[in-house]
Order: sequence, then structure tokens, then C-alpha cells
Amino acid sequence: MIGLSTALALEEHGHEVRIVAESVGAATTSAVAGAVWFPYKAGPPARVAAWAVRTRQWLEELARTTPEAGVDVLTGYEITPDDSWPWWAEGVSELVRAPAPVKGSPIAWKFTAPRAQPSLFLPWLQGRLKAHVEQQRITELADVPGDVVINCTGLAARELAHDDAMYPLLGQLVIAAVGGADLSASITDDRDPDSFFYIIPRRDELVLGGCSLPRAYGSRAELDAAIKARIIAHAARLGIEIGELRGERVGLRPYRPEVRLERDPANPRIVHNYGHGGAGFTLSRGCAEDVAALIAS
Ligand SMILES: Cc1cc2nc3c(=O)[nH]c(=O)nc-3n(C[C@H](O)[C@H](O)[C@H](O)COP(=O)(O)OP(=O)(O)OC[C@H]3O[C@@H](n4cnc5c(N)ncnc54)[C@H](O)[C@@H]3O)c2cc1C
Repeated sequence: MIGLSTALALEEHGHEVRIVAESVGAATTSAVAGAVWFPYKAGPPARVAAWAVRTRQWLEELARTTPEAGVDVLTGYEITPDDSWPWWAEGVSELVRAPAPVKGSPIAWKFTAPRAQPSLFLPWLQGRLKAHVEQQRITELADVPGDVVINCTGLAARELAHDDAMYPLLGQLVIAAVGGADLSASITDDRDPDSFFYIIPRRDELVLGGCSLPRAYGSRAELDAAIKARIIAHAARLGIEIGELRGERVGLRPYRPEVRLERDPANPRIVHNYGHGGAGFTLSRGCAEDVAALIAS
């Protein structure tokens, strides 16, 4: 997501771009994401808010003009333990308190939430590019030719950029048929830190989560039956009627306390754009435009 959106912004600014990636499509973290707009597990707050605002405008425009991109505008509800003003509020034009459409009608933050469907959005993005993706593993960023090298390698930046601040946050999803669920509402229940839950409807299925579990770098992303059971039980408790189960997905969010978007001080030919944690889709366009501005300066 980050590499493709950065490549698009650079081509729009007239640059000749080469894209090199070890894995593409379903083998990437981006293909796993629920991919709703929400600045989750990403920092620092001020930069994240600005990137999120810009990305939101882009996604909303795509939803209006380009249905084949797989972006739709949903109504987002975040049920929080209290009514303190959310730090991400700056990224939302209309944020109100309203009852969430679940059992008990708990009061939630209500906002418009663009959602991308990765199986449509990533191929659409790739199709917009003049450059083709060359499948190849890079072992040394400094050896890559070009006037500028943009490092959008997600979690692998830990090794490529020797960055110990990067580590994985495991996320697990249940995919279900639509059943009786409302396809227009994305709902997050944040009330219990030990039982974080969300439902993100796609056009033809539901994505249910979730969790965010720190893992050691290099560990495999493995499904946990207890997490799956907890997610399904939480949906039932909220009175959400999901359809038959279609599968499960697990992925490692490329987390860093702060997104790294800067020229490498030791080698200014390299520009880093990684560490988007749980918000790669939410920040993608804002970060991509900042990279374009950075290399023009
Ligand atoms: C369960 C789950 C749910 C999520 N839900 C959301 C959500 O609702 N909204 C949201 O905004 N975000 C969400 N996210 C987060 C989002 O998925 C990530 O922030 C985003 O995918 C990161 O994108 P990326 O392009 O940096 O990483 P990746 O998708 O991992 O892409 C990295 C690319 O770099 C390539 N690469 C790595 N190493 C090398 C190398 N040595 N040589 C060549 N290429 C290399 C890889 O092959 C890959 O192509 C979720 C994540 C998970 C796991």
C-alpha cells in the first residue's frame, strides 16, 4: 500500500519510477488489512492527523468518482470507555456523539469512515501506474540505483534500515458472510482493553477483529483459536448477526512509535517511508505526497 501509493504520487509529479518488491498482492500485510480509515497504532499525533486528513480527502474522492477502486464511504462508530475527545478528531470533519447500532445502543463517536477493499484497491492502484512491479529482494538499500531510493518496506525496514524501533503488532481477523449485518456501518468497541473488537463490512463480506499483540521481530504470524472465539462471541454480545464463517487472516502490523518519513541522515539519497502500524491505508496518500514534496525540496 505504502510503496504503490508513493509510486503513484511520484509519477503524478513527473518522476520516472521503478518499483521493486519481494512480495506482491495477497502475500503482503496490506492485503490482510480491514482497510478502513482510522488512525490506529501510529504516531506522532500531529503528523498522523495531517496525513490522515489528506488521505481521507483522497479516499472520499475515489469513492465518489471511481467505484472500481473498491473504496466506499461508511459510517464509523467508535464505542469508547468515556467521552474524552479523541486525539484523532482533527482528521474528521464531522464528529458527533450518537448511539451505536448494536445491542444496548451505547453512545459512540460517529464519523464518516472511508473503507478500501484491498482485493480491489491494490490492483487498481497498481493498474494506475506506468511502472511495473519488479519482483526482487533487496539486501542493501544503498546498492539500489537511481537518483532517489524510497524505502517502503514495512516491517522489513527493521533489517534494511537497521531500525530496532520497528516491531510487529499481530492482528487477527475473522471473515464472515454478510448475514444480517449492516453493510454501511463500521463499528469499533474499545471499552475493554482486553477485548478490543471491530467489524468492517466489505462489499460482499464482513471483516471482524481484533487484537494488537506485540511480537518478536522474525516471529511467524499464527492464528489463535481463542482469539477467533472471542471475536465471534463479541459480535454475538453486541447483537450483530454475522453470516457463515468464510475464513481467518492474520498479519503483522509494521509498528514503530513514530512513522519514519525522512531522508536518511547518513545517506540522503535514501528516503524512508515506513512504520505505519495499524494505519497504512489511513495515512498512505498524505505520506506519499510528503515524500514527493521532500524530494522536490
Ligand atoms: C489485521 C490487520 C488489520 C489492519 N487494518 C487496517 C485498517 O483497517 N486500516 C488501516 O489503515 N490499516 C490497517 N492495517 C495496517 C496496514 O495493513 C499496514 O499499515 C499497511 O499494510 C502497511 O503497508 P506497507 O506497504 O508499509 O507494508 P507491506 O504491505 O508489508 O508492504 C511492504 C512491501 O515491501 C516489500 N519488501 C519488504 N522487504 C523487502 C526487501 N528486502 N526487498 C524488496 N521488497 C521488500 C514487501 O515484499 C512488500 O511488497 C491492518 C493491519 C493488519 C495486520
